[in-house]
Amino acid sequence: MSRVYNFSAGPSMLPESVLKKAAAEMLDYEGSGQSVMEMSHRSKIYGTIIEGAESLLREVMNIPDNYKVLFLQGGASTQFAAIPLNLMNGSGKADYVLTGQWATKAYKEAARYGEANVVASSKDKTFSYIPKLDPSTFTKDADYFYICMNNTIYGTVYHEIPETGNVPLVADISSCILSTPLDISKFGMVYAGAQKNMAPAGLTVVIIREDLIGHARDITPTMLDYKTHADNGSMFNTPPCYTIYIAKLVLEWIKNEIGGLENMQKLNEKKAALLYNFLDNSKMFRGTVVPEDRSLMNVPFVTGSDELDAKFVKEATEQGLVNIKGHRTVGGMRASIYNAMPYEGVEALVKFMAEFEAKNA
Ligand SMILES: *Cc1c(COP(=O)(O)O)cnc(C)c1O
Repeated sequence: MSRVYNFSAGPSMLPESVLKKAAAEMLDYEGSGQSVMEMSHRSKIYGTIIEGAESLLREVMNIPDNYKVLFLQGGASTQFAAIPLNLMNGSGKADYVLTGQWATKAYKEAARYGEANVVASSKDKTFSYIPKLDPSTFTKDADYFYICMNNTIYGTVYHEIPETGNVPLVADISSCILSTPLDISKFGMVYAGAQKNMAPAGLTVVIIREDLIGHARDITPTMLDYKTHADNGSMFNTPPCYTIYIAKLVLEWIKNEIGGLENMQKLNEKKAALLYNFLDNSKMFRGTVVPEDRSLMNVPFVTGSDELDAKFVKEATEQGLVNIKGHRTVGGMRASIYNAMPYEGVEALVKFMAEFEAKNA
């Protein structure tokens, strides 16, 4: 069996040691005689898994005690509605920065529930940069301020967290969670779909300051009210049990094998630098994002010719460099190099790009 290097934007690669451990424990988890897939979520043994996952997440991400961690379902996209339903409860206003499709979808959903204001956008240049923010344009009495931290499709990231004063900052961190340390105390809430950098699909993690819980609008479905899940330890109903178990294994990998998020960041910077340096020196390939806003996780690039792009994607796939086709709105290629992508995977990609360039120049 040979494993490919999978550059998918999500679901994406998981650490090989995690997959091996899950395989070894598949039929009999720690002498229980059951697979984690088969366990009652109310059993004592499953309790150790979900509690272990939460305490590891708190430790690895250094989450302050006055924040709740919620393990939810419905994907990151369900949060687009849950956020206004739970938080747009004072002035009924919220500020949004449009840095791509995910931010725009979140904004459109919020606009169904209240006054959602666009304070900045980078749509004019296909979201290839993070717009400069001018605090004098922010809504003073907004209930929250919303950003998408890492823009999976376009390959941009905020290198600085916006200062929003007393207005709680809400961030979608789906495609950058666990990639670098993050100061959670700067946010009212962050959330992430797990399938990019944490676990298989099926789990959404919400990390929210306690004082923001418990003010949902009356019309909020019980399942979308953060209080429901905060009061029940994410066990109001059946949680995505197996995905939470894999998240726990991934967190153990980050803690014990990588050595925490500072080390994770160094590894991610080393991988990204290899690819960006190649792009900056290539005569055929170029990155599509302004250098100062480049993501460590998602790297879109083009040749400038649709024909060559298609040829590259096809030949890369034959070399075991898979899922590298770009999003249809950007075209070209996109290499997603999340935590689990080994350095060797990026090396193999860059080597192949150099060969392709030499052959097709
Ligand atoms: C993938 C992604 C989403 C959508 O996640 P789903 O779990 O499929 O709803 C939202 N935001 C960002 C930044 C993403 O990368």
